[in-house]
Amino acid sequence: MQLYNSLSHKKEEFIPREPGKVSMYTCGPTVYHFAHIGNLRSYIMEDILEKYLRFTGLDVKRVMNITDVGHLTSDGDTGDDKMLKGAKREHKTVMEIAKFYTDAFFADCAKLNIKTPDVVVPATTYIDEFIKVISSLMEKGYAYEAGGNIYFDTSKLDKYYVFGDFNEEDLAVGVREGVEEDGNKRNKADFVLWFTKSKFDDQELKWESPWGLGYPGWHIECSCISMKNLGEYLDIHCGGIDNAFPHHTNEIAQSEAYLGHEWCSYWFHVHHLNTNSGKMSKSSGEFLTVSLLEEKGYDPLVYRFFCLQSHYRKSLVFSWENLDNAKTIFDKLIAKIAPLTAEAAGEIDQAEFDRLKTQFDEALGNDLNTAMGITALYDVLKSKANAATKLALMGEFDKVLGLDLIKKAQEKNAANEAPAADIPAEVLELVEQRKAARKEKDFALADQLRDKIAALGYEVKETRQGTEINKL
Ligand code: AMP
Ligand code: ZN
Repeated sequence: MQLYNSLSHKKEEFIPREPGKVSMYTCGPTVYHFAHIGNLRSYIMEDILEKYLRFTGLDVKRVMNITDVGHLTSDGDTGDDKMLKGAKREHKTVMEIAKFYTDAFFADCAKLNIKTPDVVVPATTYIDEFIKVISSLMEKGYAYEAGGNIYFDTSKLDKYYVFGDFNEEDLAVGVREGVEEDGNKRNKADFVLWFTKSKFDDQELKWESPWGLGYPGWHIECSCISMKNLGEYLDIHCGGIDNAFPHHTNEIAQSEAYLGHEWCSYWFHVHHLNTNSGKMSKSSGEFLTVSLLEEKGYDPLVYRFFCLQSHYRKSLVFSWENLDNAKTIFDKLIAKIAPLTAEAAGEIDQAEFDRLKTQFDEALGNDLNTAMGITALYDVLKSKANAATKLALMGEFDKVLGLDLIKKAQEKNAANEAPAADIPAEVLELVEQRKAARKEKDFALADQLRDKIAALGYEVKETRQGTEINKL
């Protein structure tokens, strides 16, 4: 496949180091709050990448960390400890917060059909490993102790800013919040590997180390968790674009200094989901979650579909109107697939199957062009292939897209066969009027119509599958 590599700034043919096998690492969530749908855009696109690589026959091993220690509110080692802030906010311990939001993260992922990586490692379970690597960096002269903390010395590298030409805006993200100068650093770009001189008297989690009681900096966890589980060479490293600097830049610095050779071949960065008012941020406390989408009656997979409609290397603007548009298109797509599930008997036409599958493969193989992948799906529906062939292709594409296409089509058929017949025409007419009112966002009228329907002995409800009518 052709994959854009942030290191070389161009699309390259993806060739894994070991034929047939892919080692893939993903920066996991910082579990001090719910994931917002921006974070989840990154995880959806990384999931598509993993599933596409598997689709092409590669054997992928994917590893992810859970950041439950060390991530400060500024990625540049300043500000408060995010986990501690979360614990204080909710009057819980850091470990309770970590468990709750880790579970919440995987529950959201499940609703979005995001596969759990093969290996998931909470940072707090790898402290010995961090100490081992930091000790080695000290021995090799890449790290120094100052004011009680251990810092990585970026002046020891030939090239530190490896992603060099990210634009100013991208780089600014890394140093966005309150830049406090740390007088202990020998060079501005140096970063903390181990804190002992905690700024936080009440820091809950501390471990013994050769440098005193303390806790790890944020960046060291990903290098160590990756190297321990995937070895000294990594094929693909993923994350949101804000991770490129300083997080991934620091990961490369410390991993390559430790290993003494190049580490990761391809860097995959997903651009941000923004709202009209700007970038979504967890630390501001005001953000959109999967639960909120559900409360508003959206199926989380509509959000997945919304993400797939655009390319991962372009920023994407979220609005309810944009999501409504995606929902309309998704519903129509399912409505087109539904009749196929009812009439899919017969032989698969292998030649047609191969031809149409190739179109999809080429779309995704071109730097994960998911929008073209969806077009390939419509091409199948428009083609002259028989229902069995079309349905088999839907199943095949959905291994990558993860939209539950066939299941939803079957559910739609089942819903259509359901009781509608004995609901009086008058009620059905009012339900249609109510749907139109909701579409126009005339909620007052929609409520009046619901009351009229109730007066006729029926209850109308919006569910993930659509409008549901029940006898009261
Ligand atoms: P965090 O939990 O803050 O460590 O972030 C988890 C992942 O979400 C990281 O890979 C970030 O780069 C990514 N991310 C953060 N904000 C956004 C956003 N608005 N859109 C897309 N990805 C994001
Ligand atoms: Zn990371």
